Amino acid sequence: MKYQLTLDNKPFPHTLGKIVCVGRNYADHARELDNPVPAEPLLFMKPATAAVAMEQPFAIPTDRGSCHFETEMALLIGEPLHRASEMEAAKAITGVGLAFDLTLRDVQSTLKQKGHPWEIAKAFDGSCPLSAFVTARGIDWQNVQLHMSRNGDLQQDGNSSHMITPVLPLLSYISQHFSLLPGDVVLTGTPAGVGPLQSGDQIDAVLVGILQVSTAVK
Ligand code: ZN
Repeated sequence: MKYQLTLDNKPFPHTLGKIVCVGRNYADHARELDNPVPAEPLLFMKPATAAVAMEQPFAIPTDRGSCHFETEMALLIGEPLHRASEMEAAKAITGVGLAFDLTLRDVQSTLKQKGHPWEIAKAFDGSCPLSAFVTARGIDWQNVQLHMSRNGDLQQDGNSSHMITPVLPLLSYISQHFSLLPGDVVLTGTPAGVGPLQSGDQIDAVLVGILQVSTAVK
């Protein structure tokens, strides 16, 4: 089923475009995977066909090795951004939500070793469970707390103050390379604590004081 963008429980006037993601934006997560912390944001994309509604139980691939969750704050873009300043970027963020950047970790490790692109590990159908969005007004982008629990155990507990490239510089950087359009979504990176999902897992994800999603793996 096609993912439908919503803002404050109303249909968003634009369809979902591309999903731009940043790798290794929290140093503790880069370290847990033995990756060097990049000097510049490490960008990749997922197509709109990757998105599914996070609120519904979602499927994961079962025949391609481990599928890791990465819980991330998602930003819904409401204004075009092309070589934008941080101030322009701030005005263009219309909504905030939650995303799982699902990653076929074994596949990705093989691709990395070969120096190949990551798409088949990161951008497959269903690789981006995405929540409904809420209005982003008044949010301090430098202090958003994010939690993720799996089967009642806290797995990820991060704060956007620990981002290597914070939200506004990140959007400005992305827009130097890819124009962002209304309906595009940006995933801002994952804190430490990523791990494999299994069928039947119960998941609670929270942007503290902003929104909360309880869901499950099919
Ligand atoms: Zn990620």
